[in-house]
Amino acid sequence: MAGQKTDFINEYCSHTHTCGQLRAADVDAEVVLNGWVWHNRDHGGLIFLDVRDRAGYTQCVIDPDCVSADDFSQAEHLGREWVVEVRGTVRARMADAINPNMETGEIEVVASALTVLNASVTPPFSIEDGIETDEITRMKWRYLDIRRPEMMENLMLRHTVAQAMRSSLNSRGFLEIETPILTKSTPEGARDYIVPSRPNPGKFYALPQSPQLLKQMLMVAGLERYYQIARCFRDEDLRADRQPEFTQVDIEMSFVEQDDVMALMEDAMAEVFAAVGAKHTFPLPRMEYSESMNRFGNDRPDTRFGMELVDLTDVVKDCGFKVFSAVAQSGGTVKAINARGAGDWSRGEVEKLADIAAENGAKGMAWIAFTSDGQEKSPIIKFFSDEEFAALKTAVDAAPGDLILFAADTYEVASAVLSALRLHMADALDVKRAGHALLWVVNFPMFKYDEAEKRYAAEHHPFTRMPDEDVDRIESAPLECGSYSYDLIMDGFEIGGGTIRIHEPDLQRRVLQRIGLTDEQIDEKFGYLMEALSLGAPPHGGIALGLDRLVMLLARKDSIRDVIAFPKTSSGSCPMTGAPDAISVKQLKEVNLHGL
Ligand code: ASP
Repeated sequence: MAGQKTDFINEYCSHTHTCGQLRAADVDAEVVLNGWVWHNRDHGGLIFLDVRDRAGYTQCVIDPDCVSADDFSQAEHLGREWVVEVRGTVRARMADAINPNMETGEIEVVASALTVLNASVTPPFSIEDGIETDEITRMKWRYLDIRRPEMMENLMLRHTVAQAMRSSLNSRGFLEIETPILTKSTPEGARDYIVPSRPNPGKFYALPQSPQLLKQMLMVAGLERYYQIARCFRDEDLRADRQPEFTQVDIEMSFVEQDDVMALMEDAMAEVFAAVGAKHTFPLPRMEYSESMNRFGNDRPDTRFGMELVDLTDVVKDCGFKVFSAVAQSGGTVKAINARGAGDWSRGEVEKLADIAAENGAKGMAWIAFTSDGQEKSPIIKFFSDEEFAALKTAVDAAPGDLILFAADTYEVASAVLSALRLHMADALDVKRAGHALLWVVNFPMFKYDEAEKRYAAEHHPFTRMPDEDVDRIESAPLECGSYSYDLIMDGFEIGGGTIRIHEPDLQRRVLQRIGLTDEQIDEKFGYLMEALSLGAPPHGGIALGLDRLVMLLARKDSIRDVIAFPKTSSGSCPMTGAPDAISVKQLKEVNLHGL
């Protein structure tokens, strides 16, 4: 388990070394190891045990000439995952027995005594890396799953990242302060988890979606620099990179501008990357939100590969293919991506991609295939004049072997469709995405229009500040208001986001009104914020970094569940503890929920 310093765990315990520690220099040392029996083999009267702990594993040899008859007979009956103590002497392995793939592969421990500390029934799955056991089973016996070296490494990596982040912030004068879990709603765009209050019948706490307003209160309190490795709760539909509860490195600073917060975050990230041996150059590139949307179709671009979106609206606006020209002439967008290497896909395979387009709101998906033997295949080519087709080919830089996928819709739908297709095609074509790509996406619009709710909503959250020149547009042209906002993107994931905050009560009220709240609702939900802003709130801003996602990407895993000790399933349950669970009538009565 490279990079993890574990020598110190030999104090205050019964072993002298960890199972990952012994090297050739330790030959002849008298040692005591504690751990789990990983593999055991009987080689003609000699028993070989691999004893494993969190630091690694060591081969132990049980020789009937070196241990008591009782100990030898115990060794013959050991099972996998039994907990043992081995006392013995370190011996150099014969040259042909040295295992270069094993950190302790130069040595073995010849036991003088073996003690069984605990037996184990046969585990429900094997404690090995790369198992294909289904995830629910792994979660039900999570403590066994965590015994697997790759899972243990993930948790150690998480620890290293958290500590590097802490020490980086500590060294810059940040104070680590906890904020309550039982609190009032802090909107981040999801549903709240709610907890009934027994002494206050009919009243509920909300679990924090983030400590957003509480950290703003700490700035009003004058603490100036705050951080917290904070648990956040959002009741939303779960995906691989979402959990009902997740962890943020939450940061807030006073007397700062956008560039200050971003510079701090980059310094902290550089220290985290150094601590885990990951490589990246700093300072990080910045991309405007609008550029990210234009080029990648989303606000969290994976810039490690091309296949960028090409705008064809002008090229096709007079073409004979009415689906395109009608959209182009009515203010919509026609765009495409060039999936190089898919030009020879069968028509059936290509048409299946329309499902992805449909899931993202498209009514259909046009395509043109340029086969590697020089043919052009597509149901739509016949609608183009030679000049139009030539212009289109130039625009998408078409060559034999290419597959062009189109979206013709509103700007938003065309972006969403091609963003999803781009990522899908990169996976399908196994496009290499080496290393890590970090960048900032900046200057999001302040508001978006929520079609479902028929009202404006904040693009980030409604405590975000906008440039002074946009303040007059809050009421008249909300969609034109910019904001002081910045998202930190890594490998196509948003791993952090923050904003400079509004610190004046009047401006805060106008923004809350703009997203549809009445004065009464503002006072009822955010009265304490409004009051604090009127009592000497300093200019302030901050950011929150998703620790789970960051560790997932550094560990090169596909799911945040692999870097969380006890995650939940996609339906929000814990197969190990059985949570969530029914509660008794007595408990329901106590919290005044019985009979509702
Ligand atoms: N509270 C925000 C979030 O959870 C982060 C921030 O603005 O600091 O996304």
